[in-house]
Amino acid sequence: MNLRSQLGRVRAEMLSSVHSRPLPLRSQGPVVSFCFDDFPRTAYTTGGAILKSFGVRGTYYAALGLMNTTNNLGDQLRQEDIDSLLADGHELGSHTFNHISCRTVSLRLFEKDVLRGRQAIRALTGCDAGNFAYPRGHVSIRSKKRIGALMSSCRGIYGGINGLSADLNLLRANSLYGDVDQRARFESLLSENVARSGWLIFYTHDIRERPSAFGCTPALFDQTVALAAESGCRIASIKEALAIFSEPIRQPSHS
Ligand SMILES: [Zn+2]
Repeated sequence: MNLRSQLGRVRAEMLSSVHSRPLPLRSQGPVVSFCFDDFPRTAYTTGGAILKSFGVRGTYYAALGLMNTTNNLGDQLRQEDIDSLLADGHELGSHTFNHISCRTVSLRLFEKDVLRGRQAIRALTGCDAGNFAYPRGHVSIRSKKRIGALMSSCRGIYGGINGLSADLNLLRANSLYGDVDQRARFESLLSENVARSGWLIFYTHDIRERPSAFGCTPALFDQTVALAAESGCRIASIKEALAIFSEPIRQPSHS
């Protein structure tokens, strides 16, 4: 392991351990959530269609400042995609307005853009996008504390399973990138999630036959959703998962 990745690991462990907001997972799991960040149109047109074919819903963390633009992930979200995904029952999460990293601006400016992003979604759709994902997965000790207090949940890109207790201020999430040759990795994460009765979150961007380095192929996405369904995990959006984990535990009744 080189120094850079070693420092990255130390930073991830430190950020995971401070200003946490634990959500005990008790026995409601295992649950799997599929998320899309930014989001490129194909996340809805292709990814959303795949989720719909399994009768399940995902979470779209939208940065509305990207609307009607095009970048290396392809065409970005349009109004019609937002309307259709909400009609399908998917969730809109927030992802700042301008897709800015908290490492590049002051905390005050970052917070302002986070609030602007959530407000813009409310103005456009009437939805309160209280679940948030950090652009580029960048998080700092101060942003974790400040933004965590404003949102129902905050998601990063530190991998692994949310188990025993999830940290609502920095949910763990795993990139779902590449093609079907990567499938074994996702299969083992799903097995681990079942064994730990945890909450496994995947995130990706574009879903295309030739995806960017931050996206995956339709075949990999379809196979991973199928594996999740076969594994016995419940597939739920972030909002649905939070509701599942907040359900009171049923006590055995005395008859
Ligand atoms: Zn993003």
